[in-house]
Amino acid sequence: MVPSSRELLAKARSDVVEITPAEAEARLGQPGVVVLDVRESDEHEQGVIPGAHHIPRGMLELQVEGRIPDKNAEVVIYCAGGVRSVYAAKTLAEIGYTNVASVIGGFNRWKDEGRNWSVPKVLTSEQRNRYHRHILLPEVGEKGQQKLLESKVLLLGAGGLGSPAAMYLAAAGVGTLGIIDMDVVDASNLQRQILHNIDRVGEPKVDSAKRTIAALNPDVEVVPYNMRLGADNVVEILSDYDLVVDGTDNFPTRYLVNDASVLTGVPVVHGSIFRFEGRVSVFDPYKGPCYRCMIPEPPPPELAPSCAEAGVLGVLCGIVGSLQGIEAVKMLLGLGDPLVGRLLSYDALDQTFRTYKVKRDPDCPTCGDSAGDIVIEEYDQLCMPHVRHSGSVGERGGTGSNGAGHSFDLRVPEDVIPATVSA
Ligand SMILES: [Zn+2]
Repeated sequence: MVPSSRELLAKARSDVVEITPAEAEARLGQPGVVVLDVRESDEHEQGVIPGAHHIPRGMLELQVEGRIPDKNAEVVIYCAGGVRSVYAAKTLAEIGYTNVASVIGGFNRWKDEGRNWSVPKVLTSEQRNRYHRHILLPEVGEKGQQKLLESKVLLLGAGGLGSPAAMYLAAAGVGTLGIIDMDVVDASNLQRQILHNIDRVGEPKVDSAKRTIAALNPDVEVVPYNMRLGADNVVEILSDYDLVVDGTDNFPTRYLVNDASVLTGVPVVHGSIFRFEGRVSVFDPYKGPCYRCMIPEPPPPELAPSCAEAGVLGVLCGIVGSLQGIEAVKMLLGLGDPLVGRLLSYDALDQTFRTYKVKRDPDCPTCGDSAGDIVIEEYDQLCMPHVRHSGSVGERGGTGSNGAGHSFDLRVPEDVIPATVSA
């Protein structure tokens, strides 16, 4: 017999540890304790238990392992009234979390008992003025602006693409910008990397970026990472952000970021440039293809010259980085039709934009139907964690705008190659 919803709840309750708000409060701030809010976004906006992570119930299974990687962590879950959190706790136990509790009576009882909570901030009059042109757009409005202020974007690189993207995202009021780059400013960067200037030559790029952004918009907190992104830190860093803007310039890092993105559920706005051409796409895990679906393996290194070797038109970085900025804002606000499953290709010489469909690869070793557990590891030049044989599509792979005639697996028309480098 099919159980009634009441019976279902009673059954779930019998499997789940429930604690009172007082017991939950006593656990707050203790090492290793994670508080998780599983309410919908509009409920979350009305008020929260300070420090709580927020994953709406419907996204729980998809996002929790990325956000709370330690399955032995003590997880305290709440919803509005203590029912959804019981089901959420049951789900977490089923996927291997060992120490989960649901708060009896949820946020409503927490609040009724006079415990500490906070509401998301409202705009100040200075902010209303600064962002007035955004607020005038009904699709953005004050609510959208607030959302941008609460958003966290990680920029991979403070170079040619990262510079315009960071400037526009900072101007737009994206509240937290993480910037990872281990280089120092060089005079040869200034042809395109507009975050920096001649007085900053020799200074770490992340520090230069932080100063430029601080002067542009005091609302923005810049989190500098003057380090190399590697297998040892990529998951931890990505997990702190809503979105990644990728301006990296090498294949191993792109595959590393892709696999970490699929693992954590954090989308990547990809951009790349080569001489006079640029490409932009958005890789939103499981909603569209990932980078590895589009480019299962990188071209041989000798056919993928860096921009230091091949050159790049500086202004092109401004176009492509700005396109990444637009896609980032669209993703953060849920606006329009982001480039999920599409590759936008821009040719500066004949001023054409073209888009190509990119499909998910059911055999993708990262996000495919039968992909194994994602292993985050340093990649060599082959970037392949799994052995893979080239399929029929790969036979007609790109021929390369540099006329090198190389062939590699690419699921877009022949006249488009994966851009090899960024700035
Ligand atoms: Zn994939």
